[in-house]
Amino acid sequence: ILCVPQDFDFFYFVQQWPASYCDSRHSCCYPTTGKPAEDFSIHGLWPNYNDGKWPSNCDPKNYFDQSEVSDLVRRMQKDWPTLACPSGDGLKFWGHEWDKHGTCTNLDQHTYFQTALDLKKKANLLQILQNAGIRPGKFYSLESIKQAIEEGVGYAPFIECNVDSSGNHQLLQVYLCVDTSSSNFIQCPVFPHGRCGSRIKFPSLSEQLNSRDEF
Ligand code: 5GP
Ligand code: 5GP
Ligand code: 5GP
Repeated sequence: ILCVPQDFDFFYFVQQWPASYCDSRHSCCYPTTGKPAEDFSIHGLWPNYNDGKWPSNCDPKNYFDQSEVSDLVRRMQKDWPTLACPSGDGLKFWGHEWDKHGTCTNLDQHTYFQTALDLKKKANLLQILQNAGIRPGKFYSLESIKQAIEEGVGYAPFIECNVDSSGNHQLLQVYLCVDTSSSNFIQCPVFPHGRCGSRIKFPSLSEQLNSRDEF
């Protein structure tokens, strides 16, 4: 397969917190392959430019082909589950991420997905937060969460928040930056925009399940 060479400055490696994705205005659904763990999960590995812009859908002919990642599917089901409705097995989500973002990298499909899975292992956010005494089910200052991740990963993250049904700001996604070799975390050249409160909720999925019928 001939690939069009792509040009970009760095990657955002974006992880989502399932309890916040679910406790929001849009609905969420379990993947058909099983209930997600109480852990961060991968949203995507997104090439970006230093000016904040980004390329997308760079090679429409380079279709996502699940046979290229068959040896990774078990790990993807665990670490990159789809939470959108209706319930899916993940292929649609992964295909979307490949088509929109992956085709703008210089990675082949197998390397793209493997790289993201390996980055999640390198930046074990739940462990890092736990080490700092930050656990699901409570409120924390935005600064304490950012500081814990900066100490654990080596670089400051960007935290994206959403708002729960009671109006609390809560941790939705964590952005880390990665160099173009896709192996090292780096200081972010530019941060996305969006507000969090100074005190944010780090919700627990299990508590939410107890208090909700749907999901
Ligand atoms: P939202 O509007 O929900 O923030 O983002 C929608 C989608 O746009 C994301 O899932 C992602 O595909 C893309 N996107 C949003 N912000 C960024 C960004 O800063 N960099 C890149 N590369 N993609 C982004
Ligand atoms: P983005 O364009 O924002 O990178 O990708 C979001 C797209 O993937 C949306 O169409 C969304 O419905 C779908 N999607 C499927 N599963 C998930 C999930 O678990 N999290 C997010 N953020 N989007 C998902
Ligand atoms: P500063 O750039 O002065 O650190 O922060 C400016 C504003 O951005 C403040 O309101 C601060 O709370 C907010 N801020 C700082 N870090 C983050 C972050 O990681 N995510 C979000 N959403 N806001 C942040």
